[in-house]
Amino acid sequence: MQQPSQIDHLGIAVHSIEEASRLYRDVLGLEVVGTEAIPDQKVRVVWFRLGEIQIELLEPTSDDSPIARFLEKRGPGLHHIAYRVDDLPATLAALEVAGVRLIDKSPRDGAHGMKIAFAHPAGTSGVLTEFCQPPR
Ligand code: ZN
Repeated sequence: MQQPSQIDHLGIAVHSIEEASRLYRDVLGLEVVGTEAIPDQKVRVVWFRLGEIQIELLEPTSDDSPIARFLEKRGPGLHHIAYRVDDLPATLAALEVAGVRLIDKSPRDGAHGMKIAFAHPAGTSGVLTEFCQPPR
């Protein structure tokens, strides 16, 4: 398997994007790349550009959102790390062969035309890990 080319983004769970944006946008001065509601996952997301990486803030839009459950259990904080890969199906196959527990056994659609899949934190030293493949 080819190694990931870089960290694509860091996902941070927040109670309020507006409140959290004060740090990233107003204090650190990061550029807002976009905002999107993802009804599927019951979250609202904003992305900030930080060099080649993006900071992704995730705010729940419903009490039964996975992000709402995360916030309830652990409070705001680092939610996941996303690695960029060139061939997501090959990456998932290699992970599966290595016995890494996957949440998504096959790629699904993410934001910005990305194909994404998550590995379970149980197999990744406790860090929810996303693998994403940009559109070609
Ligand atoms: Zn993500």
